[in-house]
Amino acid sequence: MPVSHTDASPSHSLGNFPQIRKRTGRQVGHKRRVFTIPHKGKQSAPPHNRNSALWSRSRLQHHGERHLRLGHPWGARSRRLRSGFGSSRGGTSLRILLSMLGSNTFKNMQRRHTTLREKGRRQAIRGPAYMFNEKGTSLTPEEERFLDSAEYGNIPVVRKMLEESKTLNFNCVDYMGQNALQLAVGNEHLEVTELLLKKENLARVGDALLLAISKGYVRIVEAILSHPAFAQGQRLTLSPLEQELRDDDFYAYDEDGTRFSHDITPIILAAHCQEYEIVHILLLKGARIERPHDYFCKCNECTEKQRKDSFSHSRSRMNAYKGLASAAYLSLSSEDPVLTALELSNELARLANIETEFKNDYRKLSMQCKDFVVGVLDLCRDTEEVEAILNGDVNLQVWSDHHRPSLSRIKLAIKYEVKKFVAHPNCQQQLLTMWYENLSGLRQQSIAVKFLAVFGVSIGLPFLAIAYWIAPCSKLGQTLRSPFMKFVAHAVSFTIFLGLLVVNASDRFEGVKTLPNETFTDYPKQIFRVKTTQFSWTEMLIMKWVLGMIWSECKEIWEEGPREYVLHLWNLLDFGMLSIFVASFTARFMAFLKASEAQLYVDQYVQDVTLHNVSLPPEVAYFTYARDKWWPSDPQIISEGLYAIAVVLSFSRIAYILPANESFGPLQISLGRTVKDIFKFMVIFIMVFVAFMIGMFNLYSYYRGAKYNPAFTTVEESFKTLFWSIFGLSEVISVVLKYDHKFIENIGYVLYGVYNVTMVVVLLNMLIAMINNSYQEIEEDADVEWKFARAKLWLSYFDEGRTLPAPFNLVPSPKSFYYLIMRIKMCLIELCQSKVKRCENDLEMGMLNSKFRKTRYQAGMRNSENLTANSTFSKPTRYQKIMKRLIKRYVLKAQVDRENDEVNEGELKEIKQDISSLRYELLEEKSQATGELADLIQQLSEKFGKNLNKDHLRVNQGKDI
Ligand SMILES: [Zn+2]
Repeated sequence: MPVSHTDASPSHSLGNFPQIRKRTGRQVGHKRRVFTIPHKGKQSAPPHNRNSALWSRSRLQHHGERHLRLGHPWGARSRRLRSGFGSSRGGTSLRILLSMLGSNTFKNMQRRHTTLREKGRRQAIRGPAYMFNEKGTSLTPEEERFLDSAEYGNIPVVRKMLEESKTLNFNCVDYMGQNALQLAVGNEHLEVTELLLKKENLARVGDALLLAISKGYVRIVEAILSHPAFAQGQRLTLSPLEQELRDDDFYAYDEDGTRFSHDITPIILAAHCQEYEIVHILLLKGARIERPHDYFCKCNECTEKQRKDSFSHSRSRMNAYKGLASAAYLSLSSEDPVLTALELSNELARLANIETEFKNDYRKLSMQCKDFVVGVLDLCRDTEEVEAILNGDVNLQVWSDHHRPSLSRIKLAIKYEVKKFVAHPNCQQQLLTMWYENLSGLRQQSIAVKFLAVFGVSIGLPFLAIAYWIAPCSKLGQTLRSPFMKFVAHAVSFTIFLGLLVVNASDRFEGVKTLPNETFTDYPKQIFRVKTTQFSWTEMLIMKWVLGMIWSECKEIWEEGPREYVLHLWNLLDFGMLSIFVASFTARFMAFLKASEAQLYVDQYVQDVTLHNVSLPPEVAYFTYARDKWWPSDPQIISEGLYAIAVVLSFSRIAYILPANESFGPLQISLGRTVKDIFKFMVIFIMVFVAFMIGMFNLYSYYRGAKYNPAFTTVEESFKTLFWSIFGLSEVISVVLKYDHKFIENIGYVLYGVYNVTMVVVLLNMLIAMINNSYQEIEEDADVEWKFARAKLWLSYFDEGRTLPAPFNLVPSPKSFYYLIMRIKMCLIELCQSKVKRCENDLEMGMLNSKFRKTRYQAGMRNSENLTANSTFSKPTRYQKIMKRLIKRYVLKAQVDRENDEVNEGELKEIKQDISSLRYELLEEKSQATGELADLIQQLSEKFGKNLNKDHLRVNQGKDI
């Protein structure tokens, strides 16, 4: 075959089209230097880019050397192509190649039909010029022409060939392994695609679909999807694995996955490409992206995949997540896109920490989900829409007698740290409105008026508390229940608590009246300790506050569940502070109890007026001693120590309120961040420290007493010396020995020097740099961070309940009795009725346990799932309507943005392709017309000729006559 074809005219394969022939002929006729260069540039232009190699390949095969010599553009291209394969002696290697091809051709011809039917995923060992062996060579001229026509949109030829040719294999592939359908789709020839799709047994329809999706040709996608293979969503709903099991050419993935890997399904690809319209079409056909299993899933499928190729398994998970996290899929596939996006962002963030090798990818996807949520929130135009986004579907959650929205989405966003969402103006505005609920007048007031209000509350707090206790539902009660007032009341209560701590120590501000070795008593028979261990009134008040705080913490644990409670660091601080207070007071109380027992003994058995000359048993006598004779482990001493720690912790709790203020908030956040840094740093710090501590101790432990100071002779001394040397408080003389042991001394000098350099110069400066860095980070988006922190603070006051601050909440109000009774009643009803009506009612005021809340949430989820299933049948809820509106807006905006981004290159290309098709059609028509005209002329000339002959005859006859 090649022998005959290499000698053929270059226009041969293009068929009978005069124009083409003319053009080619003209080109051949030119001198080579004239047009080789311009054509080179022209032919590598974008539309031909991918297929230009194909062109040159086919030409090369048929006209190879001749064009090379002639300097034909194709020849020039083939030369370029060949040089790409690293051959310096172009002509000869090509000749060898062609002769090789010739010998293989017949064999290949036979093999082709069988190999085509195979799903060729085998990896053949390929030589350096592997592009030129096998299949490509086996194309017959007819197939060659067919593929060209399909690629250039030559509709008439394709139609003719499909209809008439008996020998044509329309599934033939070119050297790049692409069949006619793929070529037509790749060049956006809709008509050709439609023609091809009419054929039965068409291979690689799935590949063509993927190609069309990746290029965003919506009309072609629609055309392909109308193929009978896709009826009832078959082939679209199959997972990649099931697809693979159906061993056919439908999804051949270019035989070796050149374009798309095997885990890419049409819907995943459409989602990756952000093709909203195509995603929509596919969703309507029932296609879904399967959510990958958990990373630690142990099911058969996962284990098998993991075992076979863990890398490709991870990649396929990644691809699926990429699809799931794309804005197109999120907005179109989900009934509640905001919720889905929030949960997905959390899942991806979690995966980023588990699958660390794909950390950046997962982080990016997580950010993408968050951006989507923010984008939707950004498009809200009125309060109704913002509320819908912040609260979720309110119809699913059951409303009770109060009117405050649930803010479930914001809570979720805070939990998942979607800071931009929480700090978004729309969200903040809504929160601010709720913050000043029932106090709308106060919001517009100046700071001075606000201060006055706070001052008024702090003075009248006890009265307000009593008023609220009596009438919680009155106007005053409702005002007190507004988050802002609640916050003020709690802050005031806490300030009073701190004041009490100060007052408790105020009697010793000037110094204690009794020295540690003195005792004094009110009356002679009183035991000294009974007087000193007694609780003062301030201490009693402090205890009440502590009890109140413990009660409110208990409520919090009850409401949120222990897990949630522990997750917040502030809660841990509170817990620590309160438990230290409790321990301190318990120890104090124990000491008091013992002293009282001793007093009781004295009162009963001692007859004397004073205790001076009485010999008491030692356990009683102990309580009469002055402080200097107490045991170091005396409960009172322990109590005093613990109390000191608790006081420090109490003051640190002020930081909890600081985020409410704009200037202190960011400062406090960066402070918290630096604490985190220091903890991280501590690990390295301790490592270095321990190393030197033990090393120096080893060096000097035998020289105890032989040094100018005791440094390094014991572990404790070693610790002290090294610790204070960080702050420059140790001396160099610590390493000097009294003896002439220079070796030890020198090692000591070196080690101590190295320690100082690493600790002070390197590590301390590193710590400062780290702190600097995190401060910078916070500073950069201080506003977002602050608003996020403030929202967190606000939200903790939005929940109903815990209206009254610390000591006042200890008294059970009539309202709590009412709720208790209601709760018992509810439980009974629940027991009697089936579990369907579980979420009938709701209880507030901290009387609700977390388990109950969880089941209610699950019920809500189930409801929403049901709704998703039935959504087409049931009437959409208000929430669904709003979401639909927002999503429509989002999709529109995304499309507009995209159009703005896109350079018009695509459209230009489309026009080009259309013109090409049109040209072929016109040519076809013209050739037909020419043919008809020729016929007519023929007929005319025949007729005319006859007439002429007749006339001639007649004339002749006339002459004769
Ligand atoms: Zn699994």
